[in-house]
This record gives sequence, structure tokens and C-alpha cells, in this order.
Amino acid sequence: MTPQRQARREQLAAAPTNIEVSHVHKWYGEFHVLRDVNLSVSKGERIVICGPSGSGKSTLIRCINRLEEHQKGSIIVDGTELTNDVKNIEVIRREVGMVFQSFNLFPHLTVLENCTLAPIWVKKLPKKEAEAIAMKYLERVRIPDQALKYPGQLSGGQQQRVAIARALCMSPKIMLFDEPTSALDPEMVKEVLDVMISLAEDGMTMLCVTHEMGFAKSVADRVIFMDRGEIIEQNVPDEFFNNPQSDRTKLFLSQIL
Ligand code: ADP
Ligand code: MG
Repeated sequence: MTPQRQARREQLAAAPTNIEVSHVHKWYGEFHVLRDVNLSVSKGERIVICGPSGSGKSTLIRCINRLEEHQKGSIIVDGTELTNDVKNIEVIRREVGMVFQSFNLFPHLTVLENCTLAPIWVKKLPKKEAEAIAMKYLERVRIPDQALKYPGQLSGGQQQRVAIARALCMSPKIMLFDEPTSALDPEMVKEVLDVMISLAEDGMTMLCVTHEMGFAKSVADRVIFMDRGEIIEQNVPDEFFNNPQSDRTKLFLSQIL
């Protein structure tokens, strides 16, 4: 292990736990989609989740902000357990930002309005204040000049950067990314990854479902491999890529690398 990796490991070990997923099961009807998933994420930790299509990656991260409900086990996010209590769900939604593969911007609102909607309606911020915050994050993702355009007038990479800025406007403690670059043309992948890298450098707790293995190698503290609803293997990137243990992990890596 490199000295940097060792220092980072000690730093994370001393950090409080931000997400605790314990013995989580979920079914869609008869279909057992998450099978005894256990995952503990420290504050500031960067996790990459990979695995074949249909393995339950999206379902897992959607359970973490309650876009999906689990049926067994527990999920605790920043000290709040996810139950049917609407109050808890509201707390989590404020603290957890999510970025989807398909951007999910509101097409009839400008970039700026996309970014101020939740701060104004959920956080009850005055419009001027919400706009100032939005402009700060649009600068951060390097598109302040697009603020008055509509999503349809932007490239895919720009739209995804707006989606990231929009999530940041709620001052989340945790960011979830579900294949944020999969719908992008290749030349736009880097501009989105660069924004994610800068977020990571700022200490954001991040769970990223992605098959961008370069990103995983340079940014992740831990890579998690899921298959058929289970976490099969997890490790620091060097070990994960150079010394995979399970045959399923080896097969998956041979297909994507
Ligand atoms: P991944 O993100 O790893 O590709 P998903 O979490 O999206 O996997 O899906 C896992 C499995 O659950 C897939 O077999 C998918 O078809 C199924 N699934 C996902 N969402 C639903 C749903 N709303 N209803 C029924 N089955 C679903
Ligand atoms: Mg998915």
C-alpha cells in the first residue's frame, strides 16, 4: 500500500459513519433484487459501485435516498433511519443529492430555475439568495454563461453539469451518482468526470455507480462489485483491479477493461 493510501485509510477510519446499510433486502414482487446488502460509508469516503446490468446497483443507491423502499434490514443516513416516517424521508432528501444517467432536468425551466426550484420551495430560501447560490455552483461546474438557457439548448455534458450544480444547491452531505456519464457522447465524459473529481477533492461523500474505471482507479477509496443483488467483492482500487478474488469479478473485469 502506498503511504498516501495508508494515510487516507487512517483518515477515513477516524471519520464518522455517514451511511450504514445493514442486511438490506428488497423485492420487486417475487423478484429478490437486493440480497443481504451490507455497506458502511465513512464521511468523505468515495465509493464506486460496478457490476453487470441488472445486478441491483441503481436499486441500491435509490434505496439510500428512499426513491425505492427496502423491505428488510436497515439504512441509516447521517444518523437518520429510513423508515416510512415522512419527516425522516424529508431530512434525507435534503442531505442526499442525486444525479441520474438521463439528467432529469425540467425542460420548461431555465438552467437557473432548475437550480433554484428546490432551494426556494423545499428550503424556503428567498429567490435572490437561491439565485446567488445557484450562480456560485454554475460557476463551479463552469457554465455560468448558460444560466438563462433551457436544458434543450445545452449539450449532454452541459446538462449533466447543470444536474450536478442543481444537486449541490441543496448543500447535500452526500452525493449519489447513477451512471452519470453513460448517456454522454465520449467527448463529453471528461468534463463531467472533472467536476466529480473536484467534488471528491473537496471531501464530499460520494457513491458513484459507474463503469469509468479510470475514474474508479484515481478517485475511489473503495470499489464495490455487485452481481445478482449481492455485494460480491470490495476492495481498494489497486487490489480490486489487479487482484480480483471472485470468478464473477474476474469475468466482469475481462469484459469491460
Ligand atoms: P442495475 O442498475 O445494476 O442495472 P437495477 O437496480 O436497475 O440494476 O435493476 C435490478 C433488477 O431489478 C433488474 O433485473 C431489473 O429488471 C429489476 N427492476 C428494476 N426496477 C424494477 C421495478 N421498478 N420493478 C420490477 N423490477 C425492477
Ligand atoms: Mg442502473
